[in-house]
Amino acid sequence: MPAMSEQSSDLPTLDVAIVGAGFGGLYMLHKLRQLGLRARIFEAGGGVGGTWYWNRYPGARCDVVSMEYSYQFSDELQQEWEWSERYATQPEILRYVNHVADRFDLRKDIEFNTRVSSAVFDEAAGRWTVTTGQGQRVSAQFCVMATGCLSSTNLPDFPGLDSFRGERYHTGQWPHEGVDFTGKRVGVIGTGSSAIQSVPIIAQQAAQLTVFQRTASYTIPAHNSAIAPAEVQAIKADYRGFRERNKQQPFGVDFRSSKASALEVSVEEREREYEDRWQRGGLAFLGAFGDLLFNREANATAADFIRRKIASIVRDPALAAKLAPTQIVGCKRLCVDTGYYDTFNRPNVALVDVGETPIEAITPAGVKVGGQEYAFDCLVFATGFDAMTGALLKIDVRGRAGLTLQQKWAEGPRTYLGLQTVGFPNLFTITGPGSPSVLTNMLPSIEQHVEWIADCIHYVGSRGLRTIEATQPAEDAWVEHVNGVANQTLYPGCNSWYLGANVPGKPRVFMPYIGFPPYVQKCNEVVAKGYEGFRLAS
Ligand code: NAP
Repeated sequence: MPAMSEQSSDLPTLDVAIVGAGFGGLYMLHKLRQLGLRARIFEAGGGVGGTWYWNRYPGARCDVVSMEYSYQFSDELQQEWEWSERYATQPEILRYVNHVADRFDLRKDIEFNTRVSSAVFDEAAGRWTVTTGQGQRVSAQFCVMATGCLSSTNLPDFPGLDSFRGERYHTGQWPHEGVDFTGKRVGVIGTGSSAIQSVPIIAQQAAQLTVFQRTASYTIPAHNSAIAPAEVQAIKADYRGFRERNKQQPFGVDFRSSKASALEVSVEEREREYEDRWQRGGLAFLGAFGDLLFNREANATAADFIRRKIASIVRDPALAAKLAPTQIVGCKRLCVDTGYYDTFNRPNVALVDVGETPIEAITPAGVKVGGQEYAFDCLVFATGFDAMTGALLKIDVRGRAGLTLQQKWAEGPRTYLGLQTVGFPNLFTITGPGSPSVLTNMLPSIEQHVEWIADCIHYVGSRGLRTIEATQPAEDAWVEHVNGVANQTLYPGCNSWYLGANVPGKPRVFMPYIGFPPYVQKCNEVVAKGYEGFRLAS
């Protein structure tokens, strides 16, 4: 690899500065090292793992099966690692990611406990100056944001938030030493995936648990278990084929996706299909019929099935009715649980509906709703994330002519392929808005982005070029295409974090791109046409 562009100042120099040591940043570092480049990761946390480093709440585990939720870039790695359960727990995933960091000797190029505060493009030099919270500065030709899609926590600005006298936790920033809720009165705010996983476990410990629900979620049983050795052997015998087949699936994961319409089969057949998927468990429920995410009537059949399941599990009919969601299934991210609905049969668990009567305030004693105060020893905010853009916009990113990313994205993120945004040359985002990211198995999406970015950096460097930057027409066309695809589906039909609707004041823009295989094809075509839609400059 020829030398990258020359340094502009006496700052320490890198070819590539990487922000974040989650799955994306780690593989990026590994790939760049293989190209002989000088790369370094700056990571706010004290260890590797990104989302799996921070989300240590009780019950945290992945909702993609472990044989798929892992790297595939190294066959030795995927052959030697043994997952113990169908859905891996957070501690097991963290062990895996630490194993990867050790196996590929990545730690020596990672600065932990180092939050990047700004990244500023120097137009004259064609380089980025990256500054950390500690005031350390480096100059890098390229900057790769591997900051994660669900890493910036959302803590609603409830009146009196800081007045609470008890213990306060957010699921996305859980204490490393864990929390013992034994004998405590606990309030959980939120009923998304994080709450749905933690509520059954907190309920077993707490004296009294109250769940504050604004929108009821659909959740499918995980039916988690140990993985049968024969299943592992069968997958490992053809791991490459298994991965390749899954990458051809719409979400890049094996949902056993059917193309049949839910409206064109008999009622009995439809019921059998839903029941089979419910019994097998997990997100593959959404693969039951090809039109579930396109046709409201089709979707309503799935909604009806799940609501009947809730009614059959929750003994108190009034409570079952409150827990029954009314929105489109899958429009907000479908959840996967172990005993969530059944937890509401426990005498120590209560549900407070804050959909119509919102939380008024957090008080020194607890939570106030509709004039009534609920007293707690501990409050758990399971209120999610400022998804996809939050972590990027927390960094003061300045591109050409001092344009900030905040200014550029004031009305929502605009990117070309979710990889670059005009005005910010040589800056890449791994699984950025406008890419399939959160609507896929994150691991293959991350690997596809890392490999694309590494090839691109190599292309630029090996031709002695200085910069690569998306062009305005390419970005505009891509944004329009992302929206066009989304608008053909039911996704824009509810207040999801995919749309930024969970964060007050956030622009309402559908952020992920729907469809992994066509996306990969498009990225490959762009390269085959000499980085079509990008401007390369020397
Ligand atoms: P989330 O899905 O955004 O859920 C946040 C919850 O907090 C929602 O129920 C939301 O209600 C509620 N909420 C937010 N602001 C509120 C307010 N002001 N008053 C009352 N309630 C409020 O967040 P999450 O559960 O952390 O999950 C986020 C994503 O992370 C998931 O969708 C998934 O992609 C990922 N995740 C995955 C796993 C897994 O692999 N199993 C586990 C956890 C998380 P509304 O619905 O009304 O907004």
